[in-house]
Amino acid sequence: MDQHRHLMETLATLYAEMDQAYEEAARKNGFTCHGCEENCCRTLFYHHTLAEYLYLQEGLGQLSAETRRRLAGRAIEVRDRMHKTEAAGRPVSEMCPLNEDERCILYAHRPMICRLHGIPHRLQRPGGQSQVGPGCREFDRQCSLQPKALLDRTPLYTAMAQLERRVRALWDYRNKIKMTLAEMIATILSDDDGGPLAGMRNEIHRP
Ligand code: SF4
Repeated sequence: MDQHRHLMETLATLYAEMDQAYEEAARKNGFTCHGCEENCCRTLFYHHTLAEYLYLQEGLGQLSAETRRRLAGRAIEVRDRMHKTEAAGRPVSEMCPLNEDERCILYAHRPMICRLHGIPHRLQRPGGQSQVGPGCREFDRQCSLQPKALLDRTPLYTAMAQLERRVRALWDYRNKIKMTLAEMIATILSDDDGGPLAGMRNEIHRP
């Protein structure tokens, strides 16, 4: 379990590097993320790493039992509504269950995409292809469509992929993960829920 702790601390350090890269790119572009109408906590994001799932689980374990109960109920409702909307072929736009009164109640444990979204970025794929991604609509409004600096996601994604390999090796976990925050929270906090990681809930620190 010491090895697990070490890997979670490595992820915390990587998250701090992401926050720093975001701050720097935001400063160079003169961008401030504050109170936009198109709240990115409503964006449909999928999360793919066991490392982030386990870090979120750790964060949930630090909340009070009452908050976890409230959150579990909300996550299940959001997850079920999302599934119905998707099944009906309509676009999904649900507020993340961790967002309460316009603030993230697990800000220190929020996943990678919440930390990097909004600023235009570049990414060098392992195969050599390079891609550039846009910023959010608020970025375009504040900074025009021509960014002064791109956030380079390459070293951050590379470090995350290396860490993910180590976490999966430690837990001998081989399945693919594609989960929303609502699905992850529902799986971690709800006793009767299944999901790809349900079998691990008792092996790894249970909140
Ligand atoms: S984890 Fe936090 S920052 Fe990310 S979408 Fe949810 S409320 Fe927003």
